[in-house]
Amino acid sequence: MSKPRARTRRRVLERQLEKLSADREKLFLLEPGGSPARPIRVAASPIVDLRAASIPCPLCQGALRLDEHAADVVDGRSVRIARLTCRGCGTPRTIYFELAPALTN
Ligand SMILES: [Zn+2]
Repeated sequence: MSKPRARTRRRVLERQLEKLSADREKLFLLEPGGSPARPIRVAASPIVDLRAASIPCPLCQGALRLDEHAADVVDGRSVRIARLTCRGCGTPRTIYFELAPALTN
């Protein structure tokens, strides 16, 4: 016979990990860069690539690989969209930026 208890425990653990992962995703959406409503402000376009690559994967803390850097307009705001993939867990990640040149006065 198999051990239903061990199996149940494992399933409970898997569900907890899935929930933790979902919570981390939700949390990331609330952080700067997690959504077009909260873009990370950068002074110039090349900084987008640098900043995007410096942000760790919220799920496994792995490094992100930049796949695409696009410009788009979301809800009337001009945003830069960095599309990345985690080198650790392979989760795709989208980070939003806004170009905000320093005021020169
Ligand atoms: Zn990851």
